[in-house]
Amino acid sequence: MTINDLLKITQKYCDPREQVLIKKAYFCAEKIHQGEKRGTGEAYIMHPLMTAKWLAENELDADTISAALLHDVVENNPSESQEIKKIFGAHIAELVDGVTKLGKIKIKKSWFLLFKIFQNQQEKQLGFERHVESLRKMLMAMSKDIRVIFIKFADRLHNMQTLNGVYPQKRERIARETIEIYAPLAYRLGMGELKGTLEDLAFPYAYPKEYEWVKKIAGPKYQEKGKHLEKAMRIIKLKLAENKIKAQIHGRKKHLYSLYKKLIKYDRNLSKIYDLVAIRIIVDSVEACYKVLGIVHSMWKPLLGRIKDYIAMPRPNGYQSLHTTVFGPDGEILEIQIRTWKMHNMAENGIAAHWHYSQDKKSTKIPKDKFEWVQELGRWQGKLIDRNEWSKGLRLDFFEKRIFVFTPQGDIRDLPASATPIDFAYSVHTEIGNKAKLAKVNGKLVRLNHKLSNGDIVDVIIDKNSKGPKRDWLRFVKTSKARGKIKSFFV
Ligand code: MN
Repeated sequence: MTINDLLKITQKYCDPREQVLIKKAYFCAEKIHQGEKRGTGEAYIMHPLMTAKWLAENELDADTISAALLHDVVENNPSESQEIKKIFGAHIAELVDGVTKLGKIKIKKSWFLLFKIFQNQQEKQLGFERHVESLRKMLMAMSKDIRVIFIKFADRLHNMQTLNGVYPQKRERIARETIEIYAPLAYRLGMGELKGTLEDLAFPYAYPKEYEWVKKIAGPKYQEKGKHLEKAMRIIKLKLAENKIKAQIHGRKKHLYSLYKKLIKYDRNLSKIYDLVAIRIIVDSVEACYKVLGIVHSMWKPLLGRIKDYIAMPRPNGYQSLHTTVFGPDGEILEIQIRTWKMHNMAENGIAAHWHYSQDKKSTKIPKDKFEWVQELGRWQGKLIDRNEWSKGLRLDFFEKRIFVFTPQGDIRDLPASATPIDFAYSVHTEIGNKAKLAKVNGKLVRLNHKLSNGDIVDVIIDKNSKGPKRDWLRFVKTSKARGKIKSFFV
């Protein structure tokens, strides 16, 4: 990888003036990093270059690419910040500063060591505070300019790909931070492909024993399932051609870490996991999606309760597709996912795809009528965001309408602002909601209608003999899930 390789990628969408800017940023970074080496032994400049490459492949603008090339310059030498502003202007300097500040937020490795030795409540609490702080700062940075997060993702991705060059204790901390902070954030922003990649890169370093276990049990099963998959794909191809439906069909393997999490949920029993492999069918229109679903179900019987229409009802992060699980050829259970090309691009790239679609390449200001995707983000909050707020530029304050709270085990739940412990309880499990008796927030007892805040650690205490939820909970719950579950109890 050289600067010329990078320029070849950006050439496709940048004008000559922007190409010059990128080149200038590169030579500036190269000069400053001269003589520095990465843990892997490579010249340091390879790291900013690879960071910029990922962004260029996602067609981010010249300012972002230039800031990515300069992203580690300030960290190594704070006086460079003013220099960057002088040479490259305030736009790029702000992006670089944003990335530098985010880089300073690290969960100290000492915490992980402490956590392992003393698994008592106090130590956990300490860790969570730092964790929450990282998350909060990240969201704040994001609210200023989403491109800072894109650079940070690209930076983290390359660091994960070169994690072997780092000493083991630091490796484990970075891997866990990737799983606990970066991957959930990528998922929240709809960047499914990046989330899966980050988790799979981190998995062997974060949980080596678990990784070996999953690899060992899943390996042979993937092979066996793969054969059935090929057969089913051939049949679908023929059938769709008969019906004159243009489609691309491919198989997809479940990401290893995502399989691990699912296995934990299903008693570590691999035979309970139906989507180890899946067939993905990509078509041109929504209409074609439903047509394909009809064709599939006319050939193979679907499993009860496994048909999911995420087109009519998208997931909270905007994900759309039709999912069904069928008894395929030879009665083998098989998951099939059907989507349009646009949905596919969104599922893989999420907010990056939105950003790309909405970008006006000629101007630095983004016209507000291009913010179709803001509406889509708004939809998962249940409300439309005031569009005027967005005319200022790339503001992303939809996070202000959501809060992030933690289970005592440290899992993150995101809920609408002013959600209560009852909303939280139902978000964890219906039974916990139904039998909720008391709630503790950050260790203190609170009322069940208490308004939760960002970063709260919520512990719901249940009454095993409870006969069910209270009707008056309906007066204060905020999520439709809690509302629905309570109502259905009284039907
Ligand atoms: Mn870096």
